Amino acid sequence: MTAIATLGSHCSLQVLKGAKDEGLKTILVCEKKREKLYKRFPFIDDMIIVDSFKEILEQKCQSSLEEKNAVLIPHGTLIAQMSSEEIESIKTPMFGNKWILRWESDREMKEKLMVEAKLPIPKPVPTPADISKMVIVKRQGAAGGKGYFLAATEKEYHEKRNQLISEGVISKDETLYIQEYAAGVLAYLQFFYSPLNEELEFFGVDQRHESDIEGLARIPSEQQLKSNKVPSFNVIGNSPLVLRESLLENVYDMGDSFVDAAKRLVTPGMNGPFCIEGVYDENARFTSFEFSARIVAGTNIYMNGSPYYSLLFNEQMSMGKRIAREVKNAEKSNQLDKVTT
Ligand code: AMP
Repeated sequence: MTAIATLGSHCSLQVLKGAKDEGLKTILVCEKKREKLYKRFPFIDDMIIVDSFKEILEQKCQSSLEEKNAVLIPHGTLIAQMSSEEIESIKTPMFGNKWILRWESDREMKEKLMVEAKLPIPKPVPTPADISKMVIVKRQGAAGGKGYFLAATEKEYHEKRNQLISEGVISKDETLYIQEYAAGVLAYLQFFYSPLNEELEFFGVDQRHESDIEGLARIPSEQQLKSNKVPSFNVIGNSPLVLRESLLENVYDMGDSFVDAAKRLVTPGMNGPFCIEGVYDENARFTSFEFSARIVAGTNIYMNGSPYYSLLFNEQMSMGKRIAREVKNAEKSNQLDKVTT
């Protein structure tokens, strides 16, 4: 029987609880320092204890996962801690499409896929000299918003970059990515594409709470101006959001178009969970600044099922459980290769 394995972080509790509820065996690749925490949860059948997650790249760890018939569920921690080459070298079958994770990590590839999907993206700003209105400056990979900063002029760009370098937050030789700042209501749209049913499901929406940009918004502008701290967009947690029903049609259209574009650019396409992230402006028009090509931690809000999944399933269905259901169905119909890479 197939087991579900994941790294102990990000959304591992939800993923393994969902797998257990589906009757699958559960394996946590757990850093020694977090063993005590994860031992508290009875649905974890087996732990592979490591000093660092990088050990998942070693033969010993992969053989152990193979023996246990594991399917690995990738999440943000895998992407944040490993290079695309390292992720692609993992032999353990990975749920979804491991090749698309490179498209999430690399800013240029990310932009290419978003353009192909016709997502309305903020204008990229090629160099600091091209800054003419407020921009957000981002780092490569799944940095989680740490070290991002805002600038309205080239001068401000250099001042803030230098400050972050001197504080050790970013490094001198790091390539930064600049795009126009899109103002509006944050909405992170969570989807699941089933390669077995060839169907897109809309799961839910979350908002991220980011520090210290939110902290700054709580103090009067006078004090904001006096603070010489560069506020970061470091994710602290998530909260739920439901959309005006009239927005749903466009949400499905964006999801479908993303799935179609991924099929064209990166075989076998956008299988499994993914997220399109952006803001709604005052005309309820969406601008998307980002996607995640795997489960996002924002789905942790809906461990008992989401409002939109309660419309599709007559049972409590978390994203973790949905993933396990797909693996189980694939195994039953001998199609595991269709849901893994
Ligand atoms: P990202 O790593 O692209 O998900 O960005 C981290 C956070 O920065 C997001 O959750 C937003 O709060 C903010 N952000 C990123 N890009 C933009 C943008 N173009 N306009 C406004 N806010 C943005």
